Amino acid sequence: MTLDTAFTGYANPSLHAQGLYIGGKWEAGQGIPVLDPSTGNTLAEVPDASIDDAMRAVDAAEAAASEWRGTPPRQRSEILRRWFTLMTDHAEELALLISLENGKALTDARGEVAYAAEFFRWYAEEATRIGGEFRHTPSGAHNILVDHEPIGIAVLITPWNFPAAMATRKIGPALAAGCTVILKPASETPLTAYAMARLGAEAGVPEGVVNVLTTTTPGPVTSAMLADPRVRKLSFTGSTGVGRTLLAEASKSVVSCSMELGGNAPFVVFDDADLEAALDGAMVAKMRNGGEACTAANRFYVQSGIHDAFVEGLTTRMAKLKLGAGYAPDTQCGPMITINAVEKIDRLVSEAKSRGARATIGGDPMPGSGYYYPPTVLENVPTDAALAHEEIFGPVAAVYRFESEEDAITLANDTEYGLAAYVYSRDIMRAMRVGRGIETGMIGINRGLMSDPAAPFGGTKQSGLGREGGVTGILEFMEPKYFAVEF
Ligand code: NAD
Repeated sequence: MTLDTAFTGYANPSLHAQGLYIGGKWEAGQGIPVLDPSTGNTLAEVPDASIDDAMRAVDAAEAAASEWRGTPPRQRSEILRRWFTLMTDHAEELALLISLENGKALTDARGEVAYAAEFFRWYAEEATRIGGEFRHTPSGAHNILVDHEPIGIAVLITPWNFPAAMATRKIGPALAAGCTVILKPASETPLTAYAMARLGAEAGVPEGVVNVLTTTTPGPVTSAMLADPRVRKLSFTGSTGVGRTLLAEASKSVVSCSMELGGNAPFVVFDDADLEAALDGAMVAKMRNGGEACTAANRFYVQSGIHDAFVEGLTTRMAKLKLGAGYAPDTQCGPMITINAVEKIDRLVSEAKSRGARATIGGDPMPGSGYYYPPTVLENVPTDAALAHEEIFGPVAAVYRFESEEDAITLANDTEYGLAAYVYSRDIMRAMRVGRGIETGMIGINRGLMSDPAAPFGGTKQSGLGREGGVTGILEFMEPKYFAVEF
């Protein structure tokens, strides 16, 4: 593998990927070019795993399984803790790698590394606190004992938008629970996953406990793994469309599924909101990662009395953002992941404009190389525009006006998604009432950022099944076993 370091200063060969990572061995190969979205240039090439390779990864995970589940929780915990420390020690190199292959601004990439590493620290702590349950039957005649066992081999599939955090949010709890895993990162951003695997080996993760493979044929490769009776868990983060396909695939062998899928977050601002706080929150909720986040505010519903001031404030803030290559030091908004992503944003914005929306800033694609779309604010957007119902996944804030609290809740719930929502109001009773009325798994009240390894992350409706992070995240990788005990 070669990495063009001339203009990036990326200079830590020990973190470079060397091939598929199966059973603790690196297997050289090629077939998947990894592009720099800032330029479209090829950064590196990683191997294209076949079904046979994937089955060898399942063999490796199986070979390591019984020893790993028998490893004392304290020891599993210490390995995860060392992995956290190593990620922290290598934070700057990892951030640069993320920025190179994903395009996000270095400040966002640094934030991601800290967030990602924290899942290892959190689950290092949780590994030693796996609970069970004891109770008497209501008759008083018998006893109920519930143990939690590792569920078995887990296939982990992750998207490109948070190449480090989406992997650690699964690997951390899986390893803490005593499971062995096969990670399939997105082909757009595999370098971060392979770099983290190297750090995992250095932290003492035994051979075969974590296997990593990249492939251009994720459908057949995943189906083959799910059909193998040794695989008992699928944990997927990605689009709702692929999630639906995988749920159908997993149903054939009744594999347990955790699904973290797409979102369409409403951001509701009431007249009595602190305008500056709402604008600060809006910039984080919209522009973190250049808008390429499942929790990104997709629809801004702003009450009439504050609407014009909000649009003006948001436009001013968006105008100040510095657009450029993610790894350039002063960049605040990097390129989108692919040219297809830019084309999708352009299609959504053009449709909204053709139906009466007005851009107060941005609103047109940019000439030149790299996959850029400018920060954009749209007002007067019809509520049935396509971008009110599809994930924009880019730096476009669509603003809608509303009058009453009831309208805000109805509009917020007018989507098949149910991941995240934001509510801004100085009246905390109202904010909580509206929060309860909105059908999502997560609500930010006067906050534009909700992701926290200690909190249960996940969605309702077509945004997913299960929760990652928090005290319950580990249970996604465990199976309760009930003992009816007579004593
Ligand atoms: P995607 O669904 O296209 O791909 C996600 C992963 O699935 C990638 O690794 C991809 O290679 C793999 N994949 C694609 N087709 C597959 C198949 N048939 N079988 C098995 N694997 C397959 O999503 P993406 O474009 O990489 O990521 C963006 C999406 O992810 C957005 O919808 C976003 O909202 C969602 N997302 C959700 C969360 C969450 O926590 N809910 C977090 C981040 C991203």
